[in-house]
Amino acid sequence: MLRIGCHLSSSKGYLAMGKTAKSIGANTFQFFTRNPRGGAAKPLDPEDISAFLEYSKENDISQILAHAPYTLNAASKDNKIREFALMTMRDDIQRLEHTPGSMYNFHPGSHVGQGTDVGITLIVELLNEIITPEQTTTILLETMAGKGSEIGGKFEEIYEIMSRVKYSDKLGVCLDTCHVFDGGYDIKENLDGVISEFDKVLGIEKLCAVHLNDSLHGYESHKDRHAKIGEGHLGTALFAEVINHPKLSTLPFYLETPNELDGYRQEIELLKSLYTK
Ligand code: FE
Ligand code: FE
Ligand code: ZN
Repeated sequence: MLRIGCHLSSSKGYLAMGKTAKSIGANTFQFFTRNPRGGAAKPLDPEDISAFLEYSKENDISQILAHAPYTLNAASKDNKIREFALMTMRDDIQRLEHTPGSMYNFHPGSHVGQGTDVGITLIVELLNEIITPEQTTTILLETMAGKGSEIGGKFEEIYEIMSRVKYSDKLGVCLDTCHVFDGGYDIKENLDGVISEFDKVLGIEKLCAVHLNDSLHGYESHKDRHAKIGEGHLGTALFAEVINHPKLSTLPFYLETPNELDGYRQEIELLKSLYTK
């Protein structure tokens, strides 16, 4: 069965997200842990959580993916900005332990002129401070488009980070189709080649989730602008290849396309119709 969902608003809580997911044909979903620009998270409601856990069991909703605020920068040269990233991520992970076995995706960071090596070291230090051997949450590093001084546009950079983290078994990778194409991995012309490259550098078993986004801009443009499925440079046929790829087909897929709920419902329906496994 295709594991498919989309990004949902978390403003009404977990049970509401579960019900919304079901109403659009999804069996998983992604959400921001708090305002995507940062700031305080709403207190968790234990009743909402337990109602959600029961609802998701009954309705086969699983593998939920939390997304860290995209303004965090674990690689900043400013101590205060790094400290804020650390506190936010640590708090998010503690909260996610109330829905055990969840995934938590973050953008590795931007080195803002310090160079990739310094940036990577700062990210490693942060991860080594926040990960505990007891946590059930898997932290995912997202593949980036390489916009500006972003780290994570190359599989080697993600490998370098993961290889230096003590509890690296708590880490995985989220592959974003728009970002990798934008970042210089030509999944449109050579999906197999990119997947073997990923396997060679990172190990395919580290791939835990896929963001499904078409790309508004062309190959290697480093722009990071998502498009609706079939309305960008990747095209619908490529997404059929991605979800059916023997190394990918059992992974959870999350749409982050510029859509309202009805647009997501249609994309989910389309992807289900293209799934042949
Ligand atoms: Fe992201
Ligand atoms: Fe993404
Ligand atoms: Zn993006």
